[in-house]
Amino acid sequence: MAPFAKRTIRDADPSGKKILVRVDFNVPLDKGAVADDTRIRAALPTITSLLERGGALALCSHLGRPKGPDPKQSLAPVAKRLGELLGREVALLPDCVGPVVHAAVAKLAPGDVVLLENVRFHPEEERNDASFAKELAEGYDLYVNDAFGAAHRAHASTEGAAKLLPAYAGLLMEKELIALGGILSDPKHPFVAIIGGAKVSSKIDVLRALVPKVDTLAVGGGMANTFLLATGHMVGTSLVEEDRTGEAARIIEEIEGSRKRILLPVDVLCAPSVDEDGAQRAVTYSVDEVPEGMAIVDIGPRTIAQYRDVIREARTVFWNGPVGVFEIDAFANGTRQVAGFMANNPGATTVVGGGESVQAVTEAGLAERMTHVSTGGGASLELIEGKTLPGVAVIPDA
Ligand code: ADP
Ligand code: MG
Repeated sequence: MAPFAKRTIRDADPSGKKILVRVDFNVPLDKGAVADDTRIRAALPTITSLLERGGALALCSHLGRPKGPDPKQSLAPVAKRLGELLGREVALLPDCVGPVVHAAVAKLAPGDVVLLENVRFHPEEERNDASFAKELAEGYDLYVNDAFGAAHRAHASTEGAAKLLPAYAGLLMEKELIALGGILSDPKHPFVAIIGGAKVSSKIDVLRALVPKVDTLAVGGGMANTFLLATGHMVGTSLVEEDRTGEAARIIEEIEGSRKRILLPVDVLCAPSVDEDGAQRAVTYSVDEVPEGMAIVDIGPRTIAQYRDVIREARTVFWNGPVGVFEIDAFANGTRQVAGFMANNPGATTVVGGGESVQAVTEAGLAERMTHVSTGGGASLELIEGKTLPGVAVIPDA
């Protein structure tokens, strides 16, 4: 596994320092409460390590995509949940910059922690505005970035402010980079990548980056339909990208010209409509027999058995993208099975990255049984694509 090159909080002396900690508390809310606290829990090791060593912390995060101050996208529910997890009250400051905030931060004592209000209430954040970054960094001695899920964005809180203070990576940031980076730099073989999700167009760079590394590439979900069309199969009313069949064909060609293997669905669950009504009339077909008026909504049992066999033999499994429309229970079987096969191979390094795929693993209650479940959707994919993440690049090497 590649050694971790960046300076982390283990290299820092937080004692008596005021520390701006960028965390990713962009969590789903439901009726004014945190619906899934995975990302908050994931930041706890960094927060407690800094507190125990005498740091005074101001936590900074975005939430949603507000167009300016918006009480509906306040971090108040997060402050409440974080307080419960830490077993102490966490005050939410009314903003992330300005005189009131700076006065409150100046009063922080070692071991204190406060949460700053949603940094995206300021449009300057996403513009990475230099004077906003300066205001954000004002009054602190150190900067820590633990927000892996936001590291692919060069914003004021992830990049601009990091340049103005001694910057360190948090423990979650480190864990994510080691787990996802290890997949690319030094995977144990056989290495199986399962790539699903909606569209080829959003995953083409991920596919290209993985092809040279893997032993088996399994393509499922909506994007498999484009591969099926490229290999001469009819896909009925399925989600498909006709203009991407050329790219799909090139990937198939590249794999077939090597010793690698590509697994495309051999059978599929089809429904007349992608909804609860359609679920009542879903039928499994061989990929040669998909009827005109039906849409592919999941992988079929023979395909699932193939997945089971390759995952069982694998020593590294990377999974991104559900292999069916898992939001509808009747179409979630393939996705749940993939999660189960990975969980049942404890000898393998199993890594899940992506928005909906992580949601599927969490809903199946299997997150704890994976080697790593990424907290970063877009960031995890950009890392796999081999892109530089601005929020990481800005942290000095150890
Ligand atoms: P991730 O967030 O894990 O990277 P994507 O965003 O690429 O995944 O895709 C997730 C979406 O793909 C899900 O909402 C799911 O409904 C959809 N999907 C999976 N299989 C199909 C299919 N056969 N037809 C249409 N949509 C699909
Ligand atoms: Mg997604």
